[in-house]
Amino acid sequence: MKVDESVANLDICGRFCGSCPTYRENSLNNGKPRLLFCAKGNSDKGKGEKMVGCNCPGCGVHKRYKLTGDYFCTK
Ligand code: SF4
Ligand code: SF4
Repeated sequence: MKVDESVANLDICGRFCGSCPTYRENSLNNGKPRLLFCAKGNSDKGKGEKMVGCNCPGCGVHKRYKLTGDYFCTK
């Protein structure tokens, strides 16, 4: 199921990705896209990323769209 790039989903992502250690560690807020990697694809800062935890499995978007996997910012 394709994830909608909606304001509601962005808001949820902001809470989950935004509080994720990998997000902070790699300053993904300075990359593109800035959020909603499960819909928009990986971050341009995702290459060589330090993977130090992923909040995706606990995220409501992950459940609602029946996503599998994690670390969408790197894939
Ligand atoms: S996709 Fe996963 S690892 Fe990447 S910033 Fe979001 S919660 Fe963190
Ligand atoms: S599954 Fe991950 S990338 Fe997608 S909205 Fe949730 S926290 Fe963000």
